[in-house]
Amino acid sequence: MQYDVIIVGGGAVGLATALQLTNQNPSLKVVLLEKESVVANHQTGNNSNVIHSGVYYKPGSLKATNCIRGYTMLIDFCRKHNVPFDLCGKVIVATSESELPFLNTIMERGQLNGLQNLKKLTQGQLKEYEPHVAGIAGVHVPQTGIVDYRVVAEKYAEVFQKQGGEIKLGEKVIDVQLGKDSVVVVTQKASYTGKIMVNCAGLYSDKIAALTRRDLNIKIIPFRGEYYKLKKEKEYLVKTLIYPVPDPNFPFLGVHFTTMVGGGVECGPNAVLAFKREGYKKSDINLAELGESLAWPGFRKVASKYWRTGMGEMYRSFSKAAFTKALQKLMPEIQEDDLIEGGAGVRAQACDREGGLVDDFLILEDKQVINVCNAPSPAATSSLSIGETVANLVMKRF
Ligand SMILES: Cc1cc2nc3c(=O)[nH]c(=O)nc-3n(C[C@H](O)[C@H](O)[C@H](O)COP(=O)(O)OP(=O)(O)OC[C@H]3O[C@@H](n4cnc5c(N)ncnc54)[C@H](O)[C@@H]3O)c2cc1C
Repeated sequence: MQYDVIIVGGGAVGLATALQLTNQNPSLKVVLLEKESVVANHQTGNNSNVIHSGVYYKPGSLKATNCIRGYTMLIDFCRKHNVPFDLCGKVIVATSESELPFLNTIMERGQLNGLQNLKKLTQGQLKEYEPHVAGIAGVHVPQTGIVDYRVVAEKYAEVFQKQGGEIKLGEKVIDVQLGKDSVVVVTQKASYTGKIMVNCAGLYSDKIAALTRRDLNIKIIPFRGEYYKLKKEKEYLVKTLIYPVPDPNFPFLGVHFTTMVGGGVECGPNAVLAFKREGYKKSDINLAELGESLAWPGFRKVASKYWRTGMGEMYRSFSKAAFTKALQKLMPEIQEDDLIEGGAGVRAQACDREGGLVDDFLILEDKQVINVCNAPSPAATSSLSIGETVANLVMKRF
C-alpha cells in the first residue's frame, strides 16, 4: 500500500494534521493509522473539554502561539460544521496571598499574548461572576469556552475522509523501517509504504519515535487525572468555569470546576502517576510500563524533588474527603456527598533525562519522519494550528 503521508494516531493532533494536509493539497494520498476501533479514544476523548484562551503560557512559546491561533481556527471550524460550543468565560481564583504574584504573572502573560478584556477581580467582583466561590482576588478570562473534543475529532475525521483521506482503524503500529526515500510502517496486520510518516501517537509517541531515533532524550510519563461530577441539585453552585492559580512548578492546572457543553459540572482532574499508560482505573497496572517510568533517570529526579506534592495528589486520589477538601478551597460549600465519581483521563507528559517535565510542545524532525513528542494541554484547543505547522513541515519535504 503506497501513500505520500502516513499518520500514526487518531487523536485530535493526528486528525487535524491529516485534515490540514488534505486541505492544502487535495491530491496528496494520506492515510491515518489508529490502533483502536474508534478515533479519539484516549487523551482527546477523555479530557476537560475546555477551549483554552492562551492566558497561561509563556509569550512566544509554541503553547502560546499555537493555542491562540488554534483557538480561532477551532471556533471557525465548529461554526462551519455545526459542532456545539460555548464561549462562557472563566475565573482564575487566588485563595491565599502567596498565590497573588503568580496570578499577576498570568494576567501579564495573557495581555502579552494579546487577550482582550481580561479583568482583574477583587473579592467582591469575583462573587459577581461566581457567587459561591471563596477567593481573595481573581482574573476573569472572557475568551475561554467549552466543547466536546470527541465530537470535534469525529468531525475532523469525517471532513478528512470526504477530502479523499483514508482512516484505517484497528491498526497498531509495531515497527517503522527507513528506506533511502521512503518509510515502511508496519502494523500488526499489514505494511504501509509512504514518503513521510508523522507520529501523533500521544501516550506512545516516544515509543514510535524510538523506532527511528536511537538517541531519544525523552520518555512519556503518564499522569492520570480523575474527575468527580457535581450532583444535579448542586450544579447551581457553578456558573461557568472556576480554576485555581496553578502551581508554577507543574504543567497541570490544578483541580477545577468545569461546566459541560451537554450539561452538568465536572470537578477535577488531579494528577497522579498512572501505573499503565492507558490506565484509567486506579487498579490498572502494567509492570513493564511502570518499571520504565520508575527507571527513567529524569522521572526519578522529578519524583525526588516533588515527592511531597506527588504524595498529596496520590492521597487525594484514594480519599474522596481529601479531594473534597481541595475543592473546598475554591468553594467551601461543597460537601463530599455532592460529588459523584466521574471518569478519568491520562496525560502524556514528556520528561527529559535530566529531570525536566517538558513544558512546551515538542516536534522532532528527521528526513522521512516527523514526531510530535509532547502535545499535552492545550493541544486539543491548538490541534488545527499544530496540524497546520506539521503539514507545512511535511510539504517542505515534497
Ligand atoms: C485529564 C486531561 C485533561 C485535559 N484537558 C484539556 C482541555 O481542557 N483542553 C485542551 O485543549 N487540552 C486538554 N487536555 C490535553 C489534550 O487532551 C491533549 O493534548 C490532546 O488530546 C492530545 O491529542 P493527541 O492526538 O496528541 O493524543 P491522543 O488523543 O492520545 O491520540 C493519540 C492516538 O494515538 C493512538 N496510538 C497510540 N499508539 C499507537 C500505535 N502504536 N499505533 C496506532 N495508533 C496508536 C492512540 O490510540 C490514540 O488514539 C487534557 C488532557 C487530559 C488527559
